[in-house]
Amino acid sequence: MNWKQRCDLERGFIGAKRSPYDPILSENPKTGVSLNLPVLNCRPTKICREICYACSGPISFPYACKKAVAVDEWIRQHPIWAAMKAIQEADGTPIRLCGSGDLNPAHMPFLVEIKAQGGRPWGFTRKLDMWKRCWSMHIELMFGIDVSSKHLEDIPPTRLAYMRRPGDPDWSNSVAVTFPLHGPRRDPSKVPVSESDCPAIRRHIKCADCRRCYS
Ligand code: SF4
Repeated sequence: MNWKQRCDLERGFIGAKRSPYDPILSENPKTGVSLNLPVLNCRPTKICREICYACSGPISFPYACKKAVAVDEWIRQHPIWAAMKAIQEADGTPIRLCGSGDLNPAHMPFLVEIKAQGGRPWGFTRKLDMWKRCWSMHIELMFGIDVSSKHLEDIPPTRLAYMRRPGDPDWSNSVAVTFPLHGPRRDPSKVPVSESDCPAIRRHIKCADCRRCYS
């Protein structure tokens, strides 16, 4: 599936009903519980579209796309209830934002509630406006970049997460973490090792044992 096909699939699920008792979060063996959103929310670079992690593997299956669309709508409509439910599902563990997709301003009431209720959000965005909004309320997200990204001067290097493909330069001196291109049918060993590599990719460490990207 390519990025456009994923968008078309998601569009078909807009307005789909979900039970308020169904889980909001998704399990991820590396990152723990994760909020997965539609890629329709994204503002991707050309490179990001080409290598989108949400377009292959189980996260791209129709069930996962339908859930992402339905959860996105529901948390915007019921931010307080949704925040309570997400915290309950996380059961004391940090909540990773944007396992797929990205945030919109309409998600802010939900995020504010998570913080107000003692939840611990962390995660990633590729939108500068959303990164700044979250930063202003002390949710220090990682800002996802690739070699074509702009506005890097607006983000502290400690918050930059670099997606590196084979042939891309080593930016270890100016980013907090490098993600060698990986995923279903993508072999990270084709990307040279760098000092800032995410330890989960080559050494299978869990985020809870690393915490470099936590808020
Ligand atoms: S650098 Fe650490 S916290 Fe960040 S994604 Fe990799 S394992 Fe998780």
